[in-house]
Amino acid sequence: MKLHEYQSKRLFAVHGVPIPRGDVATTAQGAGRIAEEMRGPVVVKSQVLVGGRGKAGGIRLAQTPAEAVEMAEAILSLEIKGLPVRKVLVDEAADIQTEIYLGIVVDRANRRAVMMASSEGGVEIEEVARTKPDAIKKVSIDPFLGLRGYQTLGLAKGIGLTEEHTRAFGRIAQGLYKAFQAYDASLAEINPLVVTGDGKLLAVDGKMVIDDNGLFRHPDLAEMRDVDEETPTEQQAREAGLSYVQLEGEIGCMVNGAGLAMATMDIIKHFGGAPANFLDIGGGAKAERVATALRLILEDPNVRAVLFNVFGGITRCDEVAKGILTAFEEVKPTVPLVARLVGTNEAEGRELLNQSEYRLVTATTLAEAAQKAVAAARGELSA
Ligand code: GDP
Ligand code: MN
Repeated sequence: MKLHEYQSKRLFAVHGVPIPRGDVATTAQGAGRIAEEMRGPVVVKSQVLVGGRGKAGGIRLAQTPAEAVEMAEAILSLEIKGLPVRKVLVDEAADIQTEIYLGIVVDRANRRAVMMASSEGGVEIEEVARTKPDAIKKVSIDPFLGLRGYQTLGLAKGIGLTEEHTRAFGRIAQGLYKAFQAYDASLAEINPLVVTGDGKLLAVDGKMVIDDNGLFRHPDLAEMRDVDEETPTEQQAREAGLSYVQLEGEIGCMVNGAGLAMATMDIIKHFGGAPANFLDIGGGAKAERVATALRLILEDPNVRAVLFNVFGGITRCDEVAKGILTAFEEVKPTVPLVARLVGTNEAEGRELLNQSEYRLVTATTLAEAAQKAVAAARGELSA
């Protein structure tokens, strides 16, 4: 789950990271009132869950409250990378001297969190990684020892901070790490962390991604979820208890088990196709959940064929087959369907599917199923 800039910054501030004074508004007038309280120039910032808002006109400086109203009005009518702007953050404008990048992500290969810093702040870190990889300094954090003082000192030196700033930088780095840990984040980022005209460090932008699997420990964060972050399909899937990620390919996948789903996607690719989604219907999937899943898959206009790959362990193949048939009644698919059902009650499942009037091709191995699905999506498979 991604958090908005203002949410991320508030969580950082709880752990001692200095952030600008400011507040959030949903109307231009509200933005104006905040600007009045600030008694000086402000920056009006669109709160949408994408990067590069600056370039898209979603971040504007205002000298007066009247100007803030005007800018908030313009920003609130924007759509940035397809997302409507519903909120603006009005922050006291910072007098920026230099922009630094500071972030933490999980380094899976290393099984540790890694902190990264760069003197090339303000721009997207992926861009820096591509053009100036040496400008990114990294330290790996031992989960038992935590982030050590010598590590933050090394980062500060590495990015060319002068001695007067190393102490403040260290405190901010520690605060960021604490926030990252406390909220089960998979990413916590300040970009830019700025040095102001009066020599202070300030987190001007903030970004946090929370591990969805940790959300049950943070009911307060779960409430912060912005439904605009998800496509309508992803939203429905989450409500139905399905793990669903929409992709760009043309083969809809309905699979039980995350590992099997990944393997299914790989093998589709291997045979020259592209998956339209990742979907795990979970263990013991009942007919109704299967029907919801199929409905979601078929709502995607890119889908040219559907591959069912179900391993019946806890999940019974006849239950899944019933779900497929129920869904057929409702959505009346017009694309070819390939099914591989193996395991518990597979004979009953296959029997049910064979009675269906829809174009359903069966397969026994995963390779066969994937090849048939790829052919079906190309219109080269006759049932
Ligand atoms: P992003 O484009 O979505 O990453 O949004 P940011 O919050 O990082 O803002 C983009 C850029 O706008 C920053 O890198 C700064 O250069 C500039 N900016 C943001 N806030 C302020 C501010 O308070 N004062 C000034 N002068 N510039 C700002
Ligand atoms: Mn930024």
